[in-house]
Amino acid sequence: MTSAPRALITGITGQDGLYLAELLLTKGYDVFGLIRGQNNPKYELVQSTVPGVQLLTGDLTDLSSLMRALDASQPTEVYNLGAISFVAYSWENAHVTTEVTAKGVLNILEATRLHCGSTPAAVRFYQASSSEMFGKVQQVPQREQTLLWPRSPYGVAKVFGHYMTINYRESYGMHASSGILFNHESPRRGPEFVTRKVSQAVARISLGLQDRLAMGNLEARRDWGFAGDYVEAMWRMLQQAAADDYVVSTGQTHTIRELLDVAFARVGIDDWSGYVDQDQQFVRPAEVDLLIGDASKAAEVLGWKPTVGFTELVNMMVDSDLQAQQNLAGR
Ligand code: GDP
Repeated sequence: MTSAPRALITGITGQDGLYLAELLLTKGYDVFGLIRGQNNPKYELVQSTVPGVQLLTGDLTDLSSLMRALDASQPTEVYNLGAISFVAYSWENAHVTTEVTAKGVLNILEATRLHCGSTPAAVRFYQASSSEMFGKVQQVPQREQTLLWPRSPYGVAKVFGHYMTINYRESYGMHASSGILFNHESPRRGPEFVTRKVSQAVARISLGLQDRLAMGNLEARRDWGFAGDYVEAMWRMLQQAAADDYVVSTGQTHTIRELLDVAFARVGIDDWSGYVDQDQQFVRPAEVDLLIGDASKAAEVLGWKPTVGFTELVNMMVDSDLQAQQNLAGR
């Protein structure tokens, strides 16, 4: 009998880490998660959501902690999902974003390479690249070969990680793949991101717990998919004989206005203009206006397709927040 595959996930506390851990546990993997910092407040969340995951302490900025985590977990697959990932934050925190989101990728690649010794492809590696790398888009829709033109310190950091992953593949023969994932959301999305900010506020407004919602640029468009679908694409990339890069997206875009339309409609509010204010503090120094992905390579090679559409996704998030707010109020 062959032994179970083993996965090490950085960024286990995030939305994608949790969905990926669930997926891999279902597939019979031994799953290890890297968790950062003393007394991490998300420790309990991870333990209660995915109790089968074994947590290891480490930090993407600390190479030796990554080597220890690889030693302890002996993974067959490494998924690097850890990052400082909030774009708006990255202008004010460009250095720490670079340390974690850019140099952290180099650290985990290097730790994995050293761990593999003379068999560089023994561990399969996934890098979470981002549509934010396309920034000021040079082609619509964006594909794997589209010129990258990041528009935020976060985007710049992701470009570094993306090319470093390709470089480790080409220089050392590592099985290192990069998934260029467009925005992906779920009820587990952090409330700083616009979809969750809206779903939470709409739930609270409909329950009479909040009066108004302050928003930034309502004309921005995003290609939003469901995070649960996107982790499936990550896994499929690492099952291929050869490592490669893939765009993962729905190919559909919607504006923030449409997001508001669908979310408010879910609670029976057709005209939301009386609830929403525009607030300069949520407008960004630079904007990526038309991110839309062409995931035909992922469809052809990986057989991957999104299963959850925009309206279904927004409804799922509003419903979940309604339930959560009711639970809180009932306490
Ligand atoms: P991002 O694509 O990773 O930056 O994801 P976000 O969910 O943070 O932002 C998506 C888009 O929503 C961006 O173009 C923002 O400018 C726009 N947006 C408009 N109002 C808001 C807001 O109040 N909060 C956030 N986070 N984004 C907003």
